[in-house]
Amino acid sequence: MSETSQSTTTPANEKHIGSCHCGKVRYEVTGKFDSGITCNCSICSRTGAILTFVPVEQFKLVSGEDQLTDYQFNKMRLHHFFCKTCGVRSFASGNGPDGKEMRAINMRCLENFDFEAVPTKQYNGKAS
Ligand SMILES: [Zn+2]
Repeated sequence: MSETSQSTTTPANEKHIGSCHCGKVRYEVTGKFDSGITCNCSICSRTGAILTFVPVEQFKLVSGEDQLTDYQFNKMRLHHFFCKTCGVRSFASGNGPDGKEMRAINMRCLENFDFEAVPTKQYNGKAS
């Protein structure tokens, strides 16, 4: 048996599969998916993503690394990846306020996930 006795079934450790529309880009992500962020910045207002942020260790790209196009703008802090075949922006990468590498998950791209049931907070990205 393992020496660690941490429960892996708490809501903080939900595991989900995310993908783009054509399915070439797929990832596994673990975390807490009980709230999302919508943002009014120039890119989120156009793409309509519902975002949640996880540390990079909780994210694993399963396939499609060679399918991703990296789009950067403004301060070039974030990498807004999108699938070059279907154009879906299923995740982004960047660094948190403490410098830690994070992944921004587009909750609309999670499979079998009811994103409409998740409360969202509006973030004023336009002003930042
Ligand atoms: Zn695709």
